[in-house]
Amino acid sequence: MKRHFLLAAALIIALAAFSYKTMFISWSLEEFAQYRERLETLTGQQATDTTYTVFIADSVSEFYSLSGFPYWVLAGVRGNVIFLQPPTLHKNLIRTLAHELTHLSLKQYKLPYWLEEGLVCIVTNEWQGITLERLKNIQEIDPAELDYFQYQKYCYTAWIEASLLYSKIGFERIIETVSSTEELTLWSY
Ligand SMILES: [Zn+2]
Repeated sequence: MKRHFLLAAALIIALAAFSYKTMFISWSLEEFAQYRERLETLTGQQATDTTYTVFIADSVSEFYSLSGFPYWVLAGVRGNVIFLQPPTLHKNLIRTLAHELTHLSLKQYKLPYWLEEGLVCIVTNEWQGITLERLKNIQEIDPAELDYFQYQKYCYTAWIEASLLYSKIGFERIIETVSSTEELTLWSY
């Protein structure tokens, strides 16, 4: 009995250490309208109205503990859940959430990570007007091994490569020809 009590007490303390909030979002929210339109134009398909859970961390360290993503990541997806850094850290919260929603919409196609990230950035248009160094052989880079600055270049390069591919062959043919046979990635950011 005593052991159970201690276990319960430990559990309560562990839960109390977290102070994240939970929110539910979907493409049907008006705030996402312009991104939804861009996604539908890109894929030629209607976005689904699936509701997704967002965990909003109360601190950077809580974000790290909850999600397991690097502390410098603003938001990320694991399974069907979105993990978000504290809202005060976001310059454009709606765009960040639209970015993650787009990942969730595109993951059904099981694309290589760089290509999914590049297509997401076409929808969010977040690299427009920015110039960074482009990385070579992006297909061979493991994004999990990059630091913040390298990851920025990775996403920028992915956006350019995906835009070129999209303008050349279109979304349907990307899906037909480029779908990955690699192990499915269960996370993205
Ligand atoms: Zn991303």
